Amino acid sequence: MSKFLTGLFAFLALSALPAWAQVRCGSVYQKSKSALQIQHLTEDGYSLMNSPQLINPTLKRNMEKMTLVIQEKQSSYLGQLVAPTQIKVMEHSSTSSLDVRAKGSDLIAIPKNRKKNGKDIFYQALFLHEYGHIIHEFNLKSYLEKHPTSNIDPKGEDYSYLFTAMEEVFADTVAVVFTGKPKFVAEELASATESLFVDGKPAVSAEEISLRDFDVVHSAKEIIQNRGVHTDFSMLRSAVGKYMKDHPDQKTKIIPALFQTILDARASMINTPGKWMHGQNPEEIIEHMNQVLISILNKNLKK
Ligand SMILES: [Zn+2]
Repeated sequence: MSKFLTGLFAFLALSALPAWAQVRCGSVYQKSKSALQIQHLTEDGYSLMNSPQLINPTLKRNMEKMTLVIQEKQSSYLGQLVAPTQIKVMEHSSTSSLDVRAKGSDLIAIPKNRKKNGKDIFYQALFLHEYGHIIHEFNLKSYLEKHPTSNIDPKGEDYSYLFTAMEEVFADTVAVVFTGKPKFVAEELASATESLFVDGKPAVSAEEISLRDFDVVHSAKEIIQNRGVHTDFSMLRSAVGKYMKDHPDQKTKIIPALFQTILDARASMINTPGKWMHGQNPEEIIEHMNQVLISILNKNLKK
């Protein structure tokens, strides 16, 4: 990556993001998508499967529901992509109902405290977003195993910001495609952050939440006011949302085409960084990068 490109993105350190945004996955690659089991673990990793009396009934119901949603849809929506046979759900201490995160190749951590207005709440789209990270991780591993000489996972150069920004669009896309609701991630984020403040300000601003909405046409002007890994490629979110609306019978194409787009874009950013760097200022560069991503996606959707 050119020094300029690295410098442009370096100022947005991941550490500035709330915990739910910090996703780092290890990986154990499994190659099967026959059946799915969601296992509920305590914070110390103790399985609750054999201790039904310890399982919170609301959480159990939600896990069963998510198992059904994922099981029913993953073979059609993931196409040839690989998926885990098991997802572990670990409850961890946190004060934030929003603090859901993928913590490994098959582990999603959710907060112990899920109360809002006295009710035990469960955010489906946020859970599916984390499941999307797991799918991304699995398939990147799978690709790298099949193409050991490919140059899409460089060591020593910092592409992580751009790669993470693409992965965040992918994770959101999994959530909106699986639920069929382009606004779902934004709506749940709004609900989850309603009462969350950091230094007197909302933990996630209304503008940033809006940029996660797939049903809105986003602009570089809007992104530039709300830069981050969750927003920089939001024009790509708009393109996915438009495709969902214009091609309701082609939804099964979206997730595999977006994953292919990420592979293509990673290779292109590494091999031809100049192709991505057009513009006199960050706004023009953001506009251009989003347009390049959208054109790669459209090409992959036509295949
Ligand atoms: Zn994420």
